[in-house]
Amino acid sequence: MTEEHTVVDGVDGGDAALAETVGAGEESSEASPASLYPPAPRPTVAIVGRPNVGKSTLFNRLVGRRQAIVHDLPGVTRDRIFGTAELDDDRSVELIDTGGLVPGDDPLGLGDQVGLAVEESDLLVLVVDGREGLTAADERVWTELRPTGKHTVVAVNKGDTKDAQERYGEFFSFGLDQVVLVSAEHGIGVEDLRQSILGLLPVPEEEAQRASGAPAIAIVGRPNVGKSSLLNRLVGQQRTLVSPVAGTTRDPIDTLVEVDGESYVLIDTAGIRRRAKVTGAAEGLAVMMARRQIERAEIAVLVVDASAGVTSGDLAIAGSIWEMGRAAVVVVNKWDLLDEEAREKLELSFERLDTLLSGPPRVNVSALTGRAVEKIFGRVAVALERFRRSYGTSDVNRFFEVAVQRNPPPVDRHGKPWKLYYSTQVSTGPPTFMIFANRKLPLSDSYRRYLQNRLRETFDLAGVPVRLVIRQR
Ligand code: GDP
Ligand code: GDP
Repeated sequence: MTEEHTVVDGVDGGDAALAETVGAGEESSEASPASLYPPAPRPTVAIVGRPNVGKSTLFNRLVGRRQAIVHDLPGVTRDRIFGTAELDDDRSVELIDTGGLVPGDDPLGLGDQVGLAVEESDLLVLVVDGREGLTAADERVWTELRPTGKHTVVAVNKGDTKDAQERYGEFFSFGLDQVVLVSAEHGIGVEDLRQSILGLLPVPEEEAQRASGAPAIAIVGRPNVGKSSLLNRLVGQQRTLVSPVAGTTRDPIDTLVEVDGESYVLIDTAGIRRRAKVTGAAEGLAVMMARRQIERAEIAVLVVDASAGVTSGDLAIAGSIWEMGRAAVVVVNKWDLLDEEAREKLELSFERLDTLLSGPPRVNVSALTGRAVEKIFGRVAVALERFRRSYGTSDVNRFFEVAVQRNPPPVDRHGKPWKLYYSTQVSTGPPTFMIFANRKLPLSDSYRRYLQNRLRETFDLAGVPVRLVIRQR
């Protein structure tokens, strides 16, 4: 029998559930080792409705065991507002519980943050309380949502009650085709709801990236760090090949640029510009938006504000980059605002970020003055080359032999020594190594970290989320 587990470097904190989540995502990269390109973006679905109708119960029901582990990272509240929901064997969506975005005294549950989440979503699940039947407040909610033109499924919740079963029909007056009776609490009708959502999901848009084969770069960061200003600099000073690439239905999405003879796709440039106008976006929502972009990218350019130093919000986004197995380049913007003293102080705040991302390439810039902005693509090229690099099996084997010889792994509690048979690189983007051994390493073993750090040193992989898969023979 073969037993296996995978750990993304840096998040293997000994939490079994965490490792399981990470391991689950790993299978695909193993199945197609040659694939360098990320999958199509996961559609985003927002759960909306008045307070107390059961949004968060439904969210938990749909997200189930696979939860967004980013919430274990610093700076993100414990209340999960987004997570991944599997709809069938090969389709899943990024789910947002908008109930987590509004204060309790908002009678319609449609604050600005919710408006932003709705705008960012591909589809809405409007939850209503079947036990109360159709209320004037529900009608007002729908009046607000209808102009967005988003595909909407009505989930008539609390379907376990007799009242809901009797009043279910009232909700057809919204004029929507998809009205499903569910009980979030008891798991009734949830499969029907998944099917309704699947039926309304948009067909993936033709991305510039797919057409060009160019590497995809995500520019991410907290609100107001200067992403939009930076984007204008980056696109402005380079020859823009296709600007912008037209999406099928919505705004143009991505921008293809050519720099020093290399093409890059800047992901979601429309979104970056649009969001810059929205003030006061919640940091939790910023993490969600970043995750959508990171998922489609090979390299994430994490923009931080030099005048603020590294904040918990920056760390939460960095955590997502690492957890999703992408390489990072850190761009420190607004450098023009710092004097000598402030620069020294700033350096101290980078310690945690550097540790979290294992020493990513960094560049200090000013989008305002244009300082050093031209260096960004150079750093991206370095990160990309590392991310895609492959190593011969003999080098990999020699590396592990030497590493194990220098610092032999601990014996397990039965006194059985850990024996390594064979190792090889099984995929790139990020470099993933498989080790065949007589037993797997304990989850919390610092030995794994030792191997990953040695790998990074030996193979010059700073800033790259090296993965180790250990197979038991
Ligand atoms: P939210 O404010 O819309 O996120 O609502 P919650 O998910 O917090 O649920 C509000 C209340 O409705 C809680 O007391 C839940 O236990 C209850 N509730 C949620 N789903 C169901 C259901 O399917 N049936 C019944 N009877 N109660 C439910
Ligand atoms: P975004 O929300 O991350 O897209 O940030 P914006 O690009 O909208 O920038 C937020 C604010 O920071 C704006 O007022 C910009 O003019 C300002 N800003 C952006 N880059 C710089 C910079 O390098 N130096 C200074 N001093 N201000 C900047």
